[in-house]
This record gives sequence, structure tokens and C-alpha cells, in this order.
Amino acid sequence: MRVSVFAALAAATLLAAGATPPRAVHATPYRPPTTIPQVASLTDGVWLKGDLHIHSRHSRDSSNNPVRKILALADHAGMDYLLISDHDNHVNGDVAHNIWVDPEYRSDRMLLLYGAEWTTHRGHATIISAVPYDHQALYDIADDRDTVIAALKRKLGVHLSANHPGTHDAFAFSYDFVDSVEAWNSSVWATNAINMHIWDDMLKSGRKMTGRGGSDSHHGVPDTPDQATPLTYEAYINNVGTPTTWVFAKARTRHAVVDALTNGRVSISANPYDPRVEFTADLDDDGHPDMMQGDNAKPTGKPVAFHVALVGRMDRAAAYSVDVIKDGEKFTTVSLTGAHPEAVFTDTPITTARTYYRVEVHGPQTPYPEVPGSMKLSGDMIALSNAICFNFDPQF
Ligand SMILES: [Zn+2]
Ligand SMILES: [Zn+2]
Repeated sequence: MRVSVFAALAAATLLAAGATPPRAVHATPYRPPTTIPQVASLTDGVWLKGDLHIHSRHSRDSSNNPVRKILALADHAGMDYLLISDHDNHVNGDVAHNIWVDPEYRSDRMLLLYGAEWTTHRGHATIISAVPYDHQALYDIADDRDTVIAALKRKLGVHLSANHPGTHDAFAFSYDFVDSVEAWNSSVWATNAINMHIWDDMLKSGRKMTGRGGSDSHHGVPDTPDQATPLTYEAYINNVGTPTTWVFAKARTRHAVVDALTNGRVSISANPYDPRVEFTADLDDDGHPDMMQGDNAKPTGKPVAFHVALVGRMDRAAAYSVDVIKDGEKFTTVSLTGAHPEAVFTDTPITTARTYYRVEVHGPQTPYPEVPGSMKLSGDMIALSNAICFNFDPQF
């Protein structure tokens, strides 16, 4: 109180003397980008589903989980792509001669990616790549400064995704070299809110950062009773695809999967059988979508019609509730019902600031019989969209 009275007196004295009033702390006005590249085609592509955070027998904290068991479950659940992301420190960084050369890491149908869980003292990240890269180099500089890590990551051309950013082994590196964040980490669902909060904070900072899912599953379903341990029972709760990350890829290729992930054309479902949420925006009121989740555009100053739809297997008699998040705060709630559940809401993003919108869908789970305990683990959030952005920095 004494300080503020003093400050008020000091300001009054200055003004009385005809001096310029003190500048506000945030005196520099926000300058929206002058140009933003045109949004890519909304129809030229295919939705592909997968999981980017799975541990196999190549991680020491995994049990009863050979690669063939993971791939069999993934194939059965209809996955299109997959990354087995074992802890790199369990093989001293040499993932290239362990998981990548495992003869069981092969599939005729699924796109299998290259990567590992970069497991450091300052947090964990999943490294994701369409092609083999020098993971050992990244492992070797894990204790170096962020600028050094950022330069190497750029040189390698890999996608780096912060894992369970706010919970166990919280991510304590700069987010300036991060491409996506594990907004939905299944195994810690009870405390996942902090991961979502960090993702929102990154979006608020103008980083058009992708939110993705990751099961972080470690254990396989027992083949025989003698393989059953308390840990293997976790396989019935948290396994491949809990949650499932969908990407709108330009083609069914490894490169297109990673590109879609980087661009944010991504949707997350609680399990591989739950419906996917499709989130689009019609900017010019012609009834056709002009943007989808992950896209960025300049606002026109006119109202935008946002469209939310659930696509896939679901209970046709059920009602789903959609929370719309605008700039980190709940903006509105809409409901979805019927055979083709869809809803529209309208808002006018201002031209002089950044704005983003994303949606969370709540409702009954579609059963995942192979992993029945996952239904309880994920609560009633069945789907999560990425953000539709306005005035975001196109450089990021
Ligand atoms: Zn981890
Ligand atoms: Zn992990």
C-alpha cells in the first residue's frame, strides 16, 4: 500500500510538472503478419490413424511386449501408421541397431516410422522421422545447451515432440525447437490437464504447435497365465492406440504422415475405434469449408462459421457434448446427436490480434474390446481437435 501511494504521488508530481506519463509495460502494439500462405487443399488427402509413443521389449521398463505383439494388436485395430519409440538411454543412444533392425519391426500394410524416446535428465521427447537419421548424435548432446540441440535437430530434419510435458519427467527444454506436444498422454490421464494447459500456453505464445496423443504403453497382454504379472495387467488399460492420433496426410506415405503431424492437421481419439472429430471453418459464408484444424489464415473481419462433425463408429442414439476452447478459455458448448452428428457455431476473429479455436468432444466411448480398461482411463473425452488459427506467425 505504501508503495502504491508513493507511486501515485510520484506520477501526480511528474504530470503536474508537465512530464510525459510513464509508458505502459505492453506499449508495443501486436502486429499481425502481413501475409499468410494459402491453406492447402482440404480434400486432397486421407485420414490415417496410429500411435507415436509405444515401448517394446527394447525398453528395460517394458514387459511381455515383443514387437510382433504390438504390431499384431495395431494391425487388428486398423492402424495405418505406427512408431515404436523405445527409450534411447536403454541402448546408449544406438536405437538404429536395436529397434530399427528388429526383424519383427516390419509390416506389409502399416507405415512404420523411425524414431525413439529421447530420454534425458531434462525431460523426454519423441523423435519422429520418415527415414533413418543419426539418433546417436541427438543422444550425445542431450546435456548441451538448447541452441546447440536446436541446430542439430534442424540439420537432421526430424520432427521433435515433447512428451508428457507437465507431468512425470516434465519437458524442461525450450519449446522453440519443438514441433508438437503430447497434449494427451494416456498413462497419466488423471493428471493430463497440465499437459493440455502447456499446449494452450504454447498456442497463446503464437506457436502454431501441434497437439498429439501418445499411449506411452509399455506392456503386452499375457499369452499364457504364467506370463501374467501386475504389470502385464496394465496392458488391458493402456495399450496401442489409447489414445489414437489421426493425421490428414496428402498420401499414404511415411513422409506425408510426418508432414501432416508437423502441419497440425491432426485429431485425437481416445481409442482406435472411437470416432474422429473433424473441425473446419467457412470464411466466406458459401457453405464450403476453407480451413481445417491445424490451418492458419488472416481474419476477414466477417463472421466465420465453424463446423464440428464426428466421423466413424459411434452410438447413433447417444448425445455428445463439444467444448469449444478459444484462446485457452471455454468459449461455448454445442451438442452433437443423430446419425451424422454435426454442429455449427459462429464467431468473428478480430483482425488486429491472434485467435485460435479448438474443440473437445465428450460422450460415450466406442468399445475397444482388446483393451477394455482404457474406457475408464480416458474418462468421457473421446476426441480432441487441433487448433484453427488466425494471424499466427507463418514462420513457426
Ligand atoms: Zn517418457
Ligand atoms: Zn515413454
